[in-house]
Amino acid sequence: MAVYIVGHKSPDTDSVCSAIAYAELKKKLGEEAIPARQGELNPETAFVLEKFGFSVPELLTDGEGKKVILVDHSEVSQTLDNIDKAEIVEIVDHHKIGDITTPNPIFYLNMPVGSTATVVKKLYDEHGVEIPQNVAGILLASILSDTVILKSATTTDADVKTAEELAKIAGIGDIQELGMEMFKKKSDLEGKSPRDLLFRDFKDFNMSGNKVGIGQIEVVSLSLLDEFKEPLYEEMKKVKEEGGYHSIFLMLTDIIQEGTELLSVTDDPSVVKRAFDKELEGKSVWLPGVMSRKKQVVPFFEKAFA
Ligand code: MG
Ligand code: MG
Ligand code: MG
Repeated sequence: MAVYIVGHKSPDTDSVCSAIAYAELKKKLGEEAIPARQGELNPETAFVLEKFGFSVPELLTDGEGKKVILVDHSEVSQTLDNIDKAEIVEIVDHHKIGDITTPNPIFYLNMPVGSTATVVKKLYDEHGVEIPQNVAGILLASILSDTVILKSATTTDADVKTAEELAKIAGIGDIQELGMEMFKKKSDLEGKSPRDLLFRDFKDFNMSGNKVGIGQIEVVSLSLLDEFKEPLYEEMKKVKEEGGYHSIFLMLTDIIQEGTELLSVTDDPSVVKRAFDKELEGKSVWLPGVMSRKKQVVPFFEKAFA
């Protein structure tokens, strides 16, 4: 039976491209692997796939009866429906260990690096498999996406070294230029509904029994979001009610200014104060230097909710 390789819900570039690149490696090792995605591609990921000549992976949202490898996540709230009726054979990730469990021992490779793509590159090297030029391109793009062009607090030396090696293989002379091209696509908000924008990069967490949703929109200038803030806030209130959330946070991240305006809809505004030692000013709080959800936001909220 073929194994599906799939990243998290609200797929990002790392989730989609690491699945494709890992499936390519599996095929070279003689295994049948199908890359998949759990949802619509964001404009950045669509751009990356087109640029490097890959077709859009098939949609997979239900794990029932499937053999799966999970990449870029290990949280039940972010994975396939009916994951308990799937056979998870591997997990390859770079986040905190989530709450997915398996009845059998599996290959589980998690590294504290900037992207799953960095880990997938390591797997190619370990198996002594040459990375095709186009695969190197999408792996590089994944690193640049997740690390905000190697600027985010999650960036490690391994990411920088891996990005340089991949750029060489992919024949990309200017990493910055590719990164900016991608983030301009990411900043393209034109014609999108508030709901689309809110869920473009959105993750659910279980924090001490509280359902918490944290989204992120990364733009090259916060002013691009001026007209969207109010409708986004209204949408967050709706989603909070519909989904029974304790809190919904939306990171409006300015990758040039390097900081995040955190829009907050919550049953308890004091969690923001406890997490960041800053009071909400109206609907939001400005967090200078904050660009990474997993390293600079999630751990602080986990503590505040504990
Ligand atoms: Mg991801
Ligand atoms: Mg990632
Ligand atoms: Mg991200």
